[in-house]
Amino acid sequence: MKRVLSLIALVALIVIATILVRTLTFGSSQNQKIDKSVVNVDKARVTRLMSESIAFETVSTGNAETQSYEAFEQFVAWVSASYPEVHTNIELLKIADHTLLFKWQGKNSELQPILLTGHYDVVPVVPGTEDDWNYPPYSGKVADGYVWGRGAMDDKSAVVVMLEAATLLVNDGFDPERTIYFSFGHDEEIGGPQGAKGVTDYLRSQGVQLEWSLDEGSFIGKDIFPRIAQPVASVNVAEKGSVTFDLIARAKGGHSSMPEQEVAIDILANAVTNLRNRPVAGALEGVSLEMIDGIARSGPFVLRLLAANKWLFGGVLEKQLSSSPTGNALIRTTTAPTLLRSGVKTNVIAPTATATVNFRLHPRDTPDDIENHIISAINDDRVTVKLHGEGMSSLASSVSSRTSDGYKSITKVVQQVFGDEIVIVPGITIAGTDTKHYSKVADNSYRFQYMMVTPEDIGGFHGTNERVSIENLVNGTAAYYLLLKDVASR
Ligand SMILES: [Zn+2]
Repeated sequence: MKRVLSLIALVALIVIATILVRTLTFGSSQNQKIDKSVVNVDKARVTRLMSESIAFETVSTGNAETQSYEAFEQFVAWVSASYPEVHTNIELLKIADHTLLFKWQGKNSELQPILLTGHYDVVPVVPGTEDDWNYPPYSGKVADGYVWGRGAMDDKSAVVVMLEAATLLVNDGFDPERTIYFSFGHDEEIGGPQGAKGVTDYLRSQGVQLEWSLDEGSFIGKDIFPRIAQPVASVNVAEKGSVTFDLIARAKGGHSSMPEQEVAIDILANAVTNLRNRPVAGALEGVSLEMIDGIARSGPFVLRLLAANKWLFGGVLEKQLSSSPTGNALIRTTTAPTLLRSGVKTNVIAPTATATVNFRLHPRDTPDDIENHIISAINDDRVTVKLHGEGMSSLASSVSSRTSDGYKSITKVVQQVFGDEIVIVPGITIAGTDTKHYSKVADNSYRFQYMMVTPEDIGGFHGTNERVSIENLVNGTAAYYLLLKDVASR
């Protein structure tokens, strides 16, 4: 007995020692020291222009019949009037409806061009929520250190600071070696079917293959990751795809006074419940793993201990991630029932009931994999599974390089503007961006905005009280200025 006990003690000791050694050698994320750079940004001017840009109600309604483009035309005219230096020195190509494609010709045709992009269409303000806004959503009110309004973060601020950076560079007499494209989309919020797709088709027709592109899709999060004191810049190297399926349950209809044991609505309700109870398999691997490890390295001891010992705690970590909506979205294809319809009258049992379920595809899954998953999770042949909408699905993107010159430049500028203490990690964009199009003509595609975002700001994305801090406008301008100088002068 004594020998057994001492054997157990020995094994426990070895396990503890292994855990500790792995934790202590896991390392901490130390950025290479880079000095902060100072760029002379005209704070009052960028604030005013940001505020003005919000007043144009460039709303993508998603309804082709009622969509008006009057505000879009006004916005385009405003860009010409507000950024004369850009218009004089950089060629404007109007090749995709209201999307603006600027081409700043480089001197060295040997160098591959790059593309910086954003979009100026916005999502609607949900009717009935107007009064929840501290300031009217299209007022562009400047107050409390912020510019308020729809599009302040998503994504007019990107357009404004890029144009501002280009203006500064023109005024400095900057003449790029490398060709730079700027594309400002007008229909990103409905998938970029004309704008980003049109630009992509055009670039392809011109034989342009970009070295890299940079779009929205991530930011620097402050106080967003639990127990991480430093701000985290997640420079996203991939983007999830999307596929939607209809689940159609069929059963006998009839008078509601004599229901069968199960009617179509019951069958569908069970099918949806079964599907939700069986999430698509996920795993902490690839880019998500690099991201979590990168963050954990700057985290408290217990987090480093978990991350350094996935051989033992991998399951705990995955469970922990799965319990939060964002963490869950990072490691697997998500399942979201979004539409439900059945029935015509209170006393009639409907013979069919349909649920629409949207899946955001992780790079490891295809639409076919998901269809098979649904059929097996539901396990009921009274329910038909059908792809919803032709041509509406998109695969997850490929994963871009984390060692390319582009990635290095983008991340170096984070430090130059926001300081050395920022934790920089690669990540994956869990929603869709226009880059699903642009990436077709780019060797690498990155999704990251030079903007510091707090938990308070987050609710503004597609929600109420969207706002951008004036500090972000100044830093954003400085960042694109430094980035362009860095990548286009060689
Ligand atoms: Zn956006």
